[in-house]
Amino acid sequence: MRDKEKVSDLAILGGPPAFHEKLHVGRPNIGDREKLFERFRGVLDRNWLTNNGPLVQEFEKKIQELHAVKHCIAICNGTVALEIVTRAVGLSGEVIIPSFTFIATAHALQWQEITPVFCDINPQTYNLDPEQVEKLITPRTTGIMGVHLWGRACDVSALTAIARKHNLKLLFDASHAFGCSSQGEMIGGFGNAEVLSFHATKVLNTFEGGAILTNDDELAKRIRYMRNFGFQDYDTVVYLGINGKMNEICAAMGLTGMESFEKFQATNYRNYQAYSRALEGVPGIKVVPYNEKEKCNYQYLVLTVDEKVAGISRDVLSRILHAENVLARRYFFPGCHRMQPYASMPFYKGLRLPETEKASSQLLALPTGLAVGESEIHSLVKIIKLSLAHAHELKSKL
Ligand SMILES: *Cc1c(COP(=O)(O)O)cnc(C)c1O
Repeated sequence: MRDKEKVSDLAILGGPPAFHEKLHVGRPNIGDREKLFERFRGVLDRNWLTNNGPLVQEFEKKIQELHAVKHCIAICNGTVALEIVTRAVGLSGEVIIPSFTFIATAHALQWQEITPVFCDINPQTYNLDPEQVEKLITPRTTGIMGVHLWGRACDVSALTAIARKHNLKLLFDASHAFGCSSQGEMIGGFGNAEVLSFHATKVLNTFEGGAILTNDDELAKRIRYMRNFGFQDYDTVVYLGINGKMNEICAAMGLTGMESFEKFQATNYRNYQAYSRALEGVPGIKVVPYNEKEKCNYQYLVLTVDEKVAGISRDVLSRILHAENVLARRYFFPGCHRMQPYASMPFYKGLRLPETEKASSQLLALPTGLAVGESEIHSLVKIIKLSLAHAHELKSKL
């Protein structure tokens, strides 16, 4: 790692990159290796690899406790969890979701021929705007799926009120929200059900994995059957089901990661504070704030780049950082409604979501997590400041 002192030091202008090794967004958090290998050995010793094994059951129990929810059903990944839960609550027709999310939120519906109706966000929170949600309800609407983007809870109480008033199902894509709360209450028990993802990039990972959380006993039972081809017992099938089971190796990873979760969270929090301090007062650049009164995992360090003030666009800044081996990401760009297949479907023709489009042109996620510390943040922020100070010159050269 070397610090940049003058604009010609920037890698995009021919200088050597600041970082020898690439800094990624969403590098996996891995817990104690010895503990993990011990669990792997146990799996082989028991010769019980999948089908609701003891580690999956233990993992589910631990998540139930942490998220203060009655049922946790572990699933092979978050997307399949979304597909199973939408089917289990009986969604069809149209379901209102934000466009400003990872594409899986929309695909999980479209895959089942349910139409995702894209709603704009509140520019302060980057989450679903409840007022807009209500305007999109039609006779075909059967549900709403909020997303707790970056682990920052969406407006749960407003969405709950709307769902009640219109007799709609309410689900939450809580893929980012492991270990997070909303108004002091742990995420997991809101709406009919909530879905976590344990993909490798998430704060807690099981290589690939997900879970459905709910307080509804009947629904939990249905989901358990659906996860296992609809089997009720050894040879009775009661529902259309799929193979959504989590295996024991994945659960071993999850259990081991959970034991280090406080460390992951503390590292992310320290990085968030360091970035926020270092970027304070930099014109046109803001770190998206977390509400520190809530439980947060601080897994996403997101900046907004206001080109009019910063003098440089998010995309140019992103190119400059990539040249320095900082693989910043445009989370989420360009919005689901401008991605395929939605962008070319007649249903979405002419759809404009001004706040989503603005956010997706300004936001940039930076690396955080265990691979990033004070010195990386210091060098990285120096690059940002140098770029802004020479915005005019850089614009003419790039
Ligand atoms: C990661 C993610 C998913 C999908 O989860 P997988 O476990 O990767 O299938 C869904 N929604 C959002 C918002 C995500 O970030």
